[in-house]
Amino acid sequence: MDKIKDIKTTLFRVPLAEVLTDAMHGNHSHFELITARVTLEDGTEGVGYSYTGGFGGRAVYDVVEYDLKPFLIGEDAACVESLWERMNWKIHYVARGGIASFAVSCIDIALWDIRCKKAGQPLYKMAGGNRNWTKAYYGGIDLNFPLDKLLSNIENQLASGHESIKIKLGQKTLDEDIERIAAVRNLIGPERDFMVDANMSWSVEKAIKATRRMAEYNIYWLEEPTIPDDFPGYAVIAEASPVPIAQGENLHTVYEHRYAMEWGKISFPQPDASNIGGITGWLKVARMAEVLNLPVCTHGMQELHVSLMAGMPNADYLEVHSFPIDQYTKRPLVLKDGLAYAPETPGTGVEFDWNKLEEHTFL
Ligand SMILES: [Mg+2]
Repeated sequence: MDKIKDIKTTLFRVPLAEVLTDAMHGNHSHFELITARVTLEDGTEGVGYSYTGGFGGRAVYDVVEYDLKPFLIGEDAACVESLWERMNWKIHYVARGGIASFAVSCIDIALWDIRCKKAGQPLYKMAGGNRNWTKAYYGGIDLNFPLDKLLSNIENQLASGHESIKIKLGQKTLDEDIERIAAVRNLIGPERDFMVDANMSWSVEKAIKATRRMAEYNIYWLEEPTIPDDFPGYAVIAEASPVPIAQGENLHTVYEHRYAMEWGKISFPQPDASNIGGITGWLKVARMAEVLNLPVCTHGMQELHVSLMAGMPNADYLEVHSFPIDQYTKRPLVLKDGLAYAPETPGTGVEFDWNKLEEHTFL
């Protein structure tokens, strides 16, 4: 039995190089990183984590440290899916679909790290082994960038190995959003895949109007046009829109992902292993998408998702998010000609540089 001996929980507050802005979450000056280092009695260590946009990390830390850890000590780390169920029900009543999903993610990812290390396999093989790479795109958080900076930032991303680009929408007027879309399409040329993200800021009516105006610029998807809970609204948008719809970062139970796919009629589900209950939760959503004949995409934590996407036969696009968590690991994302490559080391392949993180320790 792979008995869990100890769990070390840490909260870091990591400053961003500059303030990043989107329509509904507003300004980001920091991201929070909550890590859980799970040690077995035989000495094996697994590392799991979640992150936030700057708020709520302390509550996630508390649930891991004071609610999950006491229950997990002495349990068998090999029973990952069973522990996932039991962790979720333990904190369901208070934290379901929010803090619970972030806290379970921290532990579940650590358990998968242990599972892969014990098997001597990299995560992409344990998650299906479809191939060792995935398509990737640059996800800008650039709503506040003036047009010239928006364009020069994209030029830098193209020079660093990106082929596909996403920008934020939600300016004061739709005319301004369309002007930015036109300028970016003109910059990147007609062939490259180009996504846009309204971060939940529009009404259903405004979203439909926007999709009709942006369609001539060949948009790959429109992300989160309206509030995440309005699944009937998403269906109305999807049916009227000439542009496919994406959603997922604000859906924090696997059941909500079902509603988005079946009822909301989205085309691109985007689960995030940091907020859907870790790798176990992410795989449930990815396989549900596969059965519904949909692709799977991701949000955030590219250093981990690269392996999950590489593993899945229905993978479409990995987001390379603007929170640089991967810069605090020993293997920042490997990207070439628009493709990201999964690590080959046994485990999740995400090894934090604890020395680099140390100065940002909060708890
Ligand atoms: Mg987004």
